[in-house]
Amino acid sequence: MDNFTYQNPTKLIFGKGQIDALPQEVEKYGKKVLLVYGGGSIKRNGINDNVMKKLAEIDAEVLELSGVEPNPRISTVRKGVEICKEQGVEFLLAVGGGSTIDCTKAIAAGAKTDIDMWDIVTKKEAATDALPFGTILTLSATGSEMNRGSVITNWETNEKHGWGSPYTSPQFSILDPEHTVSVPKDQTIYGMVDMMSHVLEHYFHQATNTPIQDRFCESVLKTVMETAPKLLNDLENYEYRETIMLSGTLALNDMLSMGLRGDWASHNLEHAVSAIHDIPHGGGLAILFPNWMKHVLDETNVGRFKQFAIRVFEVEQEGKTDFEIANEGIQKLREFWNSIEAPSRLADYSIDEQSVDDMAERTVIASPEFGNFKKLTKEDAAAIFRASL
Ligand code: NAP
Ligand code: FE
Repeated sequence: MDNFTYQNPTKLIFGKGQIDALPQEVEKYGKKVLLVYGGGSIKRNGINDNVMKKLAEIDAEVLELSGVEPNPRISTVRKGVEICKEQGVEFLLAVGGGSTIDCTKAIAAGAKTDIDMWDIVTKKEAATDALPFGTILTLSATGSEMNRGSVITNWETNEKHGWGSPYTSPQFSILDPEHTVSVPKDQTIYGMVDMMSHVLEHYFHQATNTPIQDRFCESVLKTVMETAPKLLNDLENYEYRETIMLSGTLALNDMLSMGLRGDWASHNLEHAVSAIHDIPHGGGLAILFPNWMKHVLDETNVGRFKQFAIRVFEVEQEGKTDFEIANEGIQKLREFWNSIEAPSRLADYSIDEQSVDDMAERTVIASPEFGNFKKLTKEDAAAIFRASL
């Protein structure tokens, strides 16, 4: 494995009723709080009332930024930055899914600089500080609750980019599985696909001697796959929600990638699709990931695909070549995602051949090649998009 330094500063507060910890955690950073949330699910499911009660216990002065979009937009980030600067906000509290948390990270960094946040998202400039912030997660998917990453979309330029900084890990994240029981079936599916994709991005790497990392990844994948059908038949089941919530956090809090560099080409491909078509992130990944796998599989890396097929999907080996076993693993992943009703074709979102070149162009905005497991170009991206139509 590669040398590495691991530090995750986020305090994870997990379980039923853990919102009780909110007042004492917020109080450490100040009383002037900007509450950031999305389209209103937290008002409908009662989470907002509980948050406000808890913040009242410390006489917090609460300002609000609502309407964070799924695939959060730079325009909303700029609004939040302005509120923070004008009002002297001391602490940000994100209540929602990955979009709300990612937007909050960008606001937190933007509040401490005069540089426009889009220049930081596009890596022309770097964040140098951020306001402290915490999260109350309401949707299991991204892992944003325990990492420093954030993904922001610009609708003026049709670009969607991931960025991160040493200053944008949440100070704390409160994860109560009960906060996720109201997540509808489709978002529950997208969330499980996203967390599985994060594990797969780690799993397809070029580092050698990673037995513990591989087994960790395989166990998270198998746990999500065992739990997914049960949860989808029983969306209010606390224990299934609990398992999926912890899986989503572990999938992208950097624990599975110690000593290795993951691939992330499929995420880059998905960002290019949703930058133009505004589709749910997990829905896009369900379509693209198996096609990325088919595209990159070759004689130099067939061993890793074979291991994936055998260990994750228990593919029989007898009488089969390595390529047959590897392809069967890819097919089984496709079948599993079909079985939980995840989308499988870009046509499911009415995306056709006309968009292919434009989307491919957007995969190489940041650099002419992307992906670490196998370097890909714009032409590779176009081929993967065509295979996904
Ligand atoms: P999301 O976009 O935050 O939320 C999706 C939808 O679910 C929203 O309409 C939201 O409604 C609703 N929702 C959330 N919690 C709910 C609840 N408890 N009950 C009912 N509805 C609820 O979804 P996400 O998948 O978590 O985030 C996707 C974004 O994260 C994408 O932009 C993706 O690119 C990014 N991402 C980030 C990372 C990272 O590490 N930072 C990793 C992967 C992906 P409301 O708006 O009304 O609340
Ligand atoms: Fe993701």
